Amino acid sequence: MSLGSDEIERIMDEAVAGRGIETSLHCATCGYNLRGLPYSGLCPECGNRYNARDYRFTGIFIPQRLEFPVSEVFSSLTCLVMALLLLRWSLTMRSMFLGAAFFGVLTFFFIRLTWQRLARYVHFRQIARRIERDL
Ligand SMILES: [Zn+2]
Repeated sequence: MSLGSDEIERIMDEAVAGRGIETSLHCATCGYNLRGLPYSGLCPECGNRYNARDYRFTGIFIPQRLEFPVSEVFSSLTCLVMALLLLRWSLTMRSMFLGAAFFGVLTFFFIRLTWQRLARYVHFRQIARRIERDL
């Protein structure tokens, strides 16, 4: 049987008593305050795997990532406008249809990306509100 590096770190944390997260760090999934818990493990509230070591830092809520996806929204709208314009022009100039199709596909991918980033933004806002409420 071999242990993963997360498992080895967890066992080492348990072996050295008193080593735990000393500041308020929050779970990236539910916002639970992980203070006092081992540096790596599972969130007691939602089961999210986290690692608060400097070189890992996964599964932890990072307030700096709470940015509205402005560039994604702008890119989506720009591609949509280009696709619609080229589609309109392709009614008189058939050669424009290829460009309209290209921007149509691009619009699809940008809207998908924007949707994912918006969902993450809304989720992070909820976590930020929970953290403010718990303070
Ligand atoms: Zn959690």
